[in-house]
This record gives sequence, C-alpha cells and structure tokens, in this order.
Amino acid sequence: MTTAVIIVAAGRGSRAGGDVPKQWQMLAQRPVLAHTLAAFKGFRRVLVIHPDDRDRVADLEQAVEVVAGGATRDASVRAALEALAGSGVRRVLIHDAARPLISAAVIGRVLAALDHAQGAAPALPVTDALWRGADGHVSGTQSRDGLYRAQTPQGFHFDAILAAHRAHPGGAADDVAVAQAAGMPVAIVAGEEDNLKLTYPADFARAEGILRGRNMDVRLGNGFDVHAFCEGDQVWLCGVSVPHGRGLLGHSDADVGMHALTDAIYGALAEGDIGQHFPPSDPQWKGAESRIFLAHAMGRVRARGYALANCDVTLICERPKIGPHAVAMRAALAGIIGVEMERISVKATTSERLGFTGREEGIAAMATATLVRT
Ligand code: MG
Repeated sequence: MTTAVIIVAAGRGSRAGGDVPKQWQMLAQRPVLAHTLAAFKGFRRVLVIHPDDRDRVADLEQAVEVVAGGATRDASVRAALEALAGSGVRRVLIHDAARPLISAAVIGRVLAALDHAQGAAPALPVTDALWRGADGHVSGTQSRDGLYRAQTPQGFHFDAILAAHRAHPGGAADDVAVAQAAGMPVAIVAGEEDNLKLTYPADFARAEGILRGRNMDVRLGNGFDVHAFCEGDQVWLCGVSVPHGRGLLGHSDADVGMHALTDAIYGALAEGDIGQHFPPSDPQWKGAESRIFLAHAMGRVRARGYALANCDVTLICERPKIGPHAVAMRAALAGIIGVEMERISVKATTSERLGFTGREEGIAAMATATLVRT
C-alpha cells in the first residue's frame, strides 16, 4: 500500500467543552475519532494520540497503527511521518481528527491532484466580508479576494513532506504551511462545507444533524400469514397464550401474528421469509416457539446495522377477542424485539363474517415493520 493516512488526534482542545478532548467525545453514539477513522477505511491508518489516551484506542474498534504525539501539532505529525519512513509509503494524507464528516469525494480530489502536484489540500473560498476589529469596533476592512478557508486532509508526496517537516523550525498552523516553507507547490482542490472542524459545542449539534441526514435510510417490509383452526383449547397470538375453544394448526406453535411480523422484518431486509430460514421440512422446528424466528430476524436487523423503528400487526378473526390481550401481546413482542412498547402496535379486525376468517375456519394476520439505519 503506497498511501497512508495520518490522523492527528493528540490535541487537548478544550473549546468544545466536556470532560474529555473533543476527538474522544461522542457524536451520534460513537467517539468523534471513530467516525474520522471510518472515513479512511481501506487506507493504512496511523493515529497520533496523546500518551494519556492510549487506553481509549480499544474503544474505537478499528485496526490502526498508534503513534504517541508531541507537544505541538507539527511535532505530532513529524512523529507519525518518522514512524512511516522507510516503509514504502509514497503518498500521505494528513487529517485532523476533529473533522469527522470528511467525504470520499474530497479525499478522492486530494489524491487525484497528487498525480500532478507534490501537495494538494481542500479549501473553500471565503465568501463573508472580512473586517479587522479592536475593542469591539471595526477598525478596518480586508479584501477577501484570493482568500481560502483551509481544510484537511492535506496530501503530499511522502518524501517531500518528511523532508519539509525535518527542515521546519516548528510553529506551523498546518502541513501546507510546512510545505510552503520548503517551497513545495500545493494545489487547492474543492473542500466541502460539511467537512467542518468540531471546535465549539454547537459544532457537535450541527455535525449530528448532518450525519442524521446522511444516514437517512428507512426500510419498510410487510408480512401476511394464515393458520387454520384445529382441535384445542388455546391459541398463541403475538407471544401470548389466549384461551379459546380451538387451537391453531401449524408446524411450529402456529403464532400467526408473530409469523406475519417476522416476515415483515425479513421483508424489510429483503432476506426472504421464515420458511427459508426455518424450513418446515426440518424436524427440529416442529412445535418450535415462534419467538425463535422473531429473535433471529431481529439478530439479522442488528447485524445489518438497522434498528426497528416501529411495527404494526393486525389480526383478522371473529374470535377470540383480541382487545383484552393486546397490551400483553405488545409487551411480549417488545421484549423479544428489544424495544419500547410504544413502538409496537397490535390491533384486530373481523372480516364481517365473510370469507374463511368470517366462517371461523382460521386466523389471518398482516404486519408492517419499519427499520432505520443506526
Ligand atoms: Mg405461519
């Protein structure tokens, strides 16, 4: 691999508030740094951290090389460059840990520009008017022509930036400044407004909003099932045993409501149906509790990175009466699914004595389930 990424995360920045440095604070249920690292998945990643943070690295659950940072930003970058020296790296991207929303598009533009330039970095033209101020008053104006707001990752040919850092006296604001001091040309590529640097508490709220929009991924599934009545004195419906003058015929416990719901969840994932996962021809599922099927479907939901947002089950029968049991059914389903009961609806209707449910030959159930990306 000839391109490495250095993530600079050794800072102690305190302007963002909180008990821990901002790169270790939580953003959408993960440390900021976990988002940043994930954006560079597939690259050789070197993480520069403060020695005090060594124990936190395991929380990131990502394979990275770890280097102890120095007292300043450029000392930290230098330490990582030295750690990579002689390992065959040809190009290096140097990125601030506090920019977790970096997109593949910006990374791609920086890398493409390195085909023609020794250095390349994303930036946005300044669009606001610029003033100088003193004592709360405007003391002068400044032309914005030719001014840019610098972002990262800043990309360089490895040997050139290593030499530039070794020659630099220290105190550079970023790696482009180091490159400039060494006379390296640096191409400007288009940055993105969303590639913001988390600095103040309000930046976290903005970043969460952007992530919510990016991750908006809603999946809907529906399921339908029918079981015929047979001899018996109770029926299983949505995980609850309901006394009745008949039973329900089926290979498993014949819980028609739970089957419809389980199929709705498999449907939302586009992963077939109960019959495919638990073939009726397989004797091990004879008389099985249907909660096994629902729990399996929910395991698939979590493995795919989704959560169940809500579901709605409708039981279609003349009898037994569902109303008195609906709360218990919702509680039973919520327990198996692992969500609050307010996300689970169970209701019933008759078919006005028409058709097979009207003639009380069996019970039908339909269900919908909504999954959202977590
Ligand atoms: Mg069934």
